[in-house]
Amino acid sequence: MKILITAGPTREPLDPVRFISNRSSGRMGYALALAAVERGHEVVLVSGPVELSAPSGVAVVRVTTAQEMHEAVRARIKDQHVGIFAAAVADYRPVRMEEQKIKKGASRMTLELEKTPDILGSARSVFGFKGVLIGFAAETENLVANATQKMTRKMCDLVVANHVGGPDSAFDSDMNEITICTPQLPPQPFRRETKVEVARLIVERAEEMAVRKFGKTTPS
Ligand code: C5P
Repeated sequence: MKILITAGPTREPLDPVRFISNRSSGRMGYALALAAVERGHEVVLVSGPVELSAPSGVAVVRVTTAQEMHEAVRARIKDQHVGIFAAAVADYRPVRMEEQKIKKGASRMTLELEKTPDILGSARSVFGFKGVLIGFAAETENLVANATQKMTRKMCDLVVANHVGGPDSAFDSDMNEITICTPQLPPQPFRRETKVEVARLIVERAEEMAVRKFGKTTPS
């Protein structure tokens, strides 16, 4: 099967030396890429800036901003069987990137931000993706309710919900505790596991759903 995975954070520049980003390490997305190649799939990994090296056999497309990730996904998603969107994409970016370094001056300053494109939210409605669509929902509260809303809004087949913030946060950790949400079944919680184990489980679920959707062949 062909699987596209997004991973890592994005960086949204303010000026030539500063940016807005988040604490995503990319470990979940890279673990998914590893689990998918280990099971013989053809993997494209669209990765934001991270410190990790990609598993061998994975085609990596490196991007920096949400806009670049959006374009990289748009160019490649159509002929994939599965899309797994594990990236922690910045939701907002500065309206302007200053060409020169912003100088220190007034005691307060206000940044004007605008929304970035929702890549997962564009997969079905804008890119016309027909394959198995898997999103992530990193939440600090109302985990299942928020994940379920996301699943409906972004037309996903499955959403992996995980708790972030606090000592057991999945962010910047090797461990993750997930709940799998699908439109058909009640939410399914799993115990805290390594991201490698969690990735195997998600790839297996993706395979089952792809076989149900396409049989063992290719999407049309
Ligand atoms: O709405 P929220 O950002 O919490 O949704 C999270 C899911 O949407 C993740 O799968 C993430 O990769 C994806 N996403 C995206 N593009 C954005 C924001 C989120 O693909 N701009």
